[in-house]
Amino acid sequence: METVITPNRLRWIVFITVTVSMTSCITNSANLYETAKPLQIAHFKQLPIPLPRKTITTVRQGAFGKSSHNEPGNQYNWDFETPLGTPVVAAEDGVVIDVWKPNRGGGCDAAYAAVAHNIKIEHTDGTVAQYVHIDTPLRSGDRVAKGQTIAHTAVNGWICYPHLHFGVYASRNNLYSSPARKTLPIYFLGIPDGIAREGDSYIVP
Ligand SMILES: [Zn+2]
Repeated sequence: METVITPNRLRWIVFITVTVSMTSCITNSANLYETAKPLQIAHFKQLPIPLPRKTITTVRQGAFGKSSHNEPGNQYNWDFETPLGTPVVAAEDGVVIDVWKPNRGGGCDAAYAAVAHNIKIEHTDGTVAQYVHIDTPLRSGDRVAKGQTIAHTAVNGWICYPHLHFGVYASRNNLYSSPARKTLPIYFLGIPDGIAREGDSYIVP
């Protein structure tokens, strides 16, 4: 029997072909962090989610996130959704090396991208944690201890829902402003396999 390709059937063939090739594109650009193998994860810096114990949080944008966590060198950042005013705690002991609070507002608009209040804390291993969209009374030179409340989440900068944006730079020579910018993959202590995945919710252990 002869197979007749009707226009309707042709539409289905095109639809299926396009869908299959799009799916393989997505697979090819797999998220390097969320698909990391145990041997790779073993080398990730280990830190707690920097929120108080028992806080319920959802990773609204994860590492390599499509909204803004995709610039070269700056992919390892996480947006932990929290109620406004949630305390932010230091992930590790360190010294405040920078506090940026221009007081120029915030909202769901890229025009606010450069005015997000944030604090940078250098750890003894030279890495630098950055906590963004916060209010903090701390100043450069202050020492902080792991678990200490260092800030509260706030609306400033480019922000479409209350969250803490968190990431860790390899060193003070690898900050966002540097051409050598480099954020680090993180193993988050106390969550399944240590990988904080976009869309997943966690109770901070
Ligand atoms: Zn973010």
